[in-house]
Amino acid sequence: MQAVKTVKLKLFKPTRVKRQLLFLLQENQQLLNNYIGLIEKHSTTNKSLLHSLSYSRLRSDYKLPSAIVQSARDKAVEAYKSYKAKKRRGEKSSKPCFSDRVPVRLDKRTFSVIETDNRFRYFASIATVEGRVFVPLLGQRYQYKYLARLFKGELQQGTAELLLKGNEFYIYLAVKKELSVPRPDASFTPIGIDLGLNNLLTSVILRDKPSGAKFFSGKPALKMRKHFSTFRTSLGKAKLLWRIKKSKEKESRCMRDINHKASTAIIKQALTVENPVIILERLRGIRRKAKSGKKLNRMLHSWAFAQLQSFIEYKANWNGIPVVYVNPEFTSQRCSVCGYTDKANRKGNSFVCSKCGYQLNADLNAAINIAKQHKNFAFGYMLDALGDVATPLTPAVNKKEHKMVSVVDRGSPCF
Ligand SMILES: [Zn+2]
Repeated sequence: MQAVKTVKLKLFKPTRVKRQLLFLLQENQQLLNNYIGLIEKHSTTNKSLLHSLSYSRLRSDYKLPSAIVQSARDKAVEAYKSYKAKKRRGEKSSKPCFSDRVPVRLDKRTFSVIETDNRFRYFASIATVEGRVFVPLLGQRYQYKYLARLFKGELQQGTAELLLKGNEFYIYLAVKKELSVPRPDASFTPIGIDLGLNNLLTSVILRDKPSGAKFFSGKPALKMRKHFSTFRTSLGKAKLLWRIKKSKEKESRCMRDINHKASTAIIKQALTVENPVIILERLRGIRRKAKSGKKLNRMLHSWAFAQLQSFIEYKANWNGIPVVYVNPEFTSQRCSVCGYTDKANRKGNSFVCSKCGYQLNADLNAAINIAKQHKNFAFGYMLDALGDVATPLTPAVNKKEHKMVSVVDRGSPCF
């Protein structure tokens, strides 16, 4: 399995080569739209057919490096295919028309990173119509780490996109890694994660005893959503639809940021454990939880939880940590000590077992129950190994739930 990450880097003051870069963007845009026209005219998305139909003419018309012409063809074909697929599904979609801000797709032949002893450690080398240009690459320290790993051979270079945002040029570089995520058996240490509204995320490491409980408060997320909601209500009266849309986008970005921070914290914790396996609830339970809450609670939509889970899974797999999804049923009502399950056990934010009297934070109790389910899966594996003999001892949880969801390719930025 391969995972891809996108490293976003800024080109530092490309004043001297700005003309070449702008020309590249402009030519690329026309070429992409030209390809869309060709695809329609010949009603084909076959790349080699398009190549033989048009390559020599387009090369002489545009004078772009040949690898850029090929990448543009591929990009046009992908855009056209996705437009057709949307139409088939009956979704709203219009024929691809590339704007003047459409990024230029570059590959190894047209883009490379150069390591130097200069004040700027890394330079971009970009093929343009007038030959290669070199511009310093600016990024955060963690982004430089990815570049360093590229040079060490730990990561491979994927496609890069050159784009213009405002007055600044950026390179979005995809870096790839071959993943090896182990299959978690009973020797693995489960880290149970409960997602909720009071605590966005509660995690616990379950060795012989639960330890290292971490709480990631849900208050900032709810406060943020309340703020945007109030703001939009005031806008709604004035019917400022455009500003409502902008505010929703900003809210999504804020939630995304919160989810990134929470998921990073969890991975950091998991990396302190030997052979960790992260246990998450399947999402159905989350939705139910959110529905039963107050109006404001409902506003923390299930997409926010789904996004948080996907971030956790993606970052975990990137670090070679397996992720397992379990049945969420009764995790908040079951006593993590004696197993007694009753709705009445849950008293607001605390959990008090009506049988054994055990008391603790309700989210933590749920996280422990989630972590405990790993044993059931490990047991399921053991039965697998024994074969038919063991069938009467059905594992407590359906094995189908033990799903290792593949890593989502987030290679190229959208345009
Ligand atoms: Zn109990």
